[in-house]
Amino acid sequence: MSSPRYVPLHCEGCDQTSLQPIEPGIAAVCSVCGARGSILPGEIYTEADVVAFEHLAALVKAARLNARNVRHVIAELTKASAGAAAPELPLLQVLELIPGLHFLLSTLCLDRASGGYDATKLRRTGGMLLVTVSAQLRRIEAENAARAS
Ligand SMILES: [Zn+2]
Repeated sequence: MSSPRYVPLHCEGCDQTSLQPIEPGIAAVCSVCGARGSILPGEIYTEADVVAFEHLAALVKAARLNARNVRHVIAELTKASAGAAAPELPLLQVLELIPGLHFLLSTLCLDRASGGYDATKLRRTGGMLLVTVSAQLRRIEAENAARAS
């Protein structure tokens, strides 16, 4: 039996972003409140990614970024995933806005001797951050739309 695939789910009800397994014929629901969430476009994950993903999602949510900063973070992460020569530089910009992510410096960067970083992990983490920050943008846009109507 193959292990289930996981997709990012954002719940508009409680603003929770989580990874949920895809099961044929079963709609994914929010793990916190049970409401039906929206599946976010992005990568497919496995169960091994759940802890790291939900940790990042909680930190991004806790940062309560405003619309301007959310767009800035998305732009930086997009740069990083687009194959920038030094993908750690956009990440450092992101850390300025989300200080909770500073622990990433020790997990991704750096082998101090070489000054290098784990490029695979960096790309993976950047992808997760992009998904969770995009969820925050959806929340902000939904709030703005509700205010305008
Ligand atoms: Zn929920």
